[in-house]
Amino acid sequence: MSISSLQQALARFADARDWGQFHDPKNLILALAGEVGELAELFQWLTPSEAKQIMNHPASADRVREELADVLGYVLRLATVLDVDLERAVLAKIEINNAKYPVEKAKGSAAKYTDLPE
Ligand SMILES: [Mg+2]
Repeated sequence: MSISSLQQALARFADARDWGQFHDPKNLILALAGEVGELAELFQWLTPSEAKQIMNHPASADRVREELADVLGYVLRLATVLDVDLERAVLAKIEINNAKYPVEKAKGSAAKYTDLPE
């Protein structure tokens, strides 16, 4: 399923419930932040090793999938409401990051682009 197909499915879901009236950019970004918080809560206090293993635990894995879906759903709704072409935006951002983080300087480094060697 494509990004636009997912956006259309979410729009149909919201339209059927007359929820478009609530889906203004401010409400959607706050809902997105809330869902990111719910996802983060699943990892809160886990060790790095436990976090890597979270999908090996079926109950936790189900919750991760649900919260990721909630996060993506609000990202998609926000893009729809703001008329942002997400495919173009992501590809454009990859190009920007390609320029900021040339492979020969950034490979294997977690440094911010401003701190990469000249
Ligand atoms: Mg949620």
